[in-house]
Amino acid sequence: MSPTRRKSSSGEGVSVIAPRFDRPEVEVRASARRTKTGNAHWSGTRIVVQIPARLRGRERDVFVDDLVVRLLSQRPQVTGTDATLEERARALADVYTESIYPASVRWVSNQQQRWASCSPSTREIRVSARLRACPEWVIDAVLVHELAHLHEADHSKAFYDIADRHPRQAEATLYLEGYALGLGLVQEDDDVIGH
Ligand SMILES: [Zn+2]
Repeated sequence: MSPTRRKSSSGEGVSVIAPRFDRPEVEVRASARRTKTGNAHWSGTRIVVQIPARLRGRERDVFVDDLVVRLLSQRPQVTGTDATLEERARALADVYTESIYPASVRWVSNQQQRWASCSPSTREIRVSARLRACPEWVIDAVLVHELAHLHEADHSKAFYDIADRHPRQAEATLYLEGYALGLGLVQEDDDVIGH
């Protein structure tokens, strides 16, 4: 889908980027009065982004995407910060994994092909920031999956005995397969690193 644009020779104008699977419609307003900084805010269900008119091509796309991702990540939700994500993981550990607690849980933006990963030796869990846009039950299922890895590194029967205690694990897998497809991502089978 290509965005529709009304552009003057100065690069000023308004364009609209169609909604995608992981984000709503984005209205881009390019202004010559802006030189460096951008701004993003909600206007109903649409995100309005203001950018410097001088930006072109890929630089412009990256600038817009960055503002949109930052705004989306500011949505108030229990999984908003690393601290609340870790708290959530601990609460899930109480319920589903017989108190296999992680040492730390945090959002990361450098995982391109994994939803989450963990290091059983250090008990660290990292969750892809892409999941911020997902429903909480999906994030919960991913956290329980990683918590189970703290106990069983491989995808063994013993692993699934723990992971599948979360009642929506299979549903979450389906959801994420669709989500990956929508984002044009290729998922790796093995989501564990650093045994
Ligand atoms: Zn796994």
